[in-house]
Amino acid sequence: MSGSSGLSIRFWGVRGSYVVPGPKTVRYGGNTSCMEIRAGDECVVVDCGSGVHDLGKAMLASGRKCVTVLFTHTHLDHICGLPFFAPAYKPDFQVRFMAGHLLADIKLQDIFERLMDPVLFPVQPVVFKECAFHDLKIGEALRFPNGLSVTTECLNHPGGALGYRFDFKGRSIVIITDHEHGERGTDDAVERFVEGADIMVYDATYTDAEYRSHVGWGHSTWQEALSLSRRAGIAQPVMFHHHPERSDDEFDRLREEIQTLFPAAEVAREGMLLEADAAARMLARPMEAREAPVGGR
Ligand SMILES: [Zn+2]
Ligand SMILES: [Zn+2]
Repeated sequence: MSGSSGLSIRFWGVRGSYVVPGPKTVRYGGNTSCMEIRAGDECVVVDCGSGVHDLGKAMLASGRKCVTVLFTHTHLDHICGLPFFAPAYKPDFQVRFMAGHLLADIKLQDIFERLMDPVLFPVQPVVFKECAFHDLKIGEALRFPNGLSVTTECLNHPGGALGYRFDFKGRSIVIITDHEHGERGTDDAVERFVEGADIMVYDATYTDAEYRSHVGWGHSTWQEALSLSRRAGIAQPVMFHHHPERSDDEFDRLREEIQTLFPAAEVAREGMLLEADAAARMLARPMEAREAPVGGR
């Protein structure tokens, strides 16, 4: 294996649906979807759920002056932190906002206008002077000057959602949320898209048992995350978009269960930092555990 790639992901919000502060969510966190990808000197934020508030503060404290923000989609749990993302208000901080799931006649900037309409929020997005908006075309790839490549894939979710794959110096991280498995064409495309990734963050909102009464809601299961990981040769699957009702204790038990089936698997929690190089090394761990059957699939 060559030297370190410097590709990593940090979680600032791991919940789906709505914010759940309180004593039962202290350890895994109650903020909604927000992740920070680092690739050398590049920094990309995925989603502006409530977790982006603290990320924004940390970014300003670090002295950064520019960032790219990608949205998986614009359901409320993925944008509710946006009006509280401090860098967007700074005249010397450049933010590029991008999304690609919207219908042709709706622009990402329109979503900002709606979210920060005067009846909903006291400040309008015209104050975001150094912010640019870009609507990605399906399949469009982004190339950063330092060699980071970001590619996209359509997911199965009401209103659409986009999966992102980050490739940098031979390492890769993919983010697949919000997504429901079971649609053959999309499943095949997603499997090809995530193939061989070192880290796969995956929508594990439900258990298989819970999923039976939530077919069509646009989310998947931890069992499916492990099954897809085996098929696609993922080194480290990470359960994400947690059900808001699940407590820390339940996640402890879930983590134990998934790690008996797939030792490198993780349950995302706020503050967790995962490095693609470390994930890649786990692929060399015992194959018998990786091949164990999961939940009848
Ligand atoms: Zn969501
Ligand atoms: Zn959604």
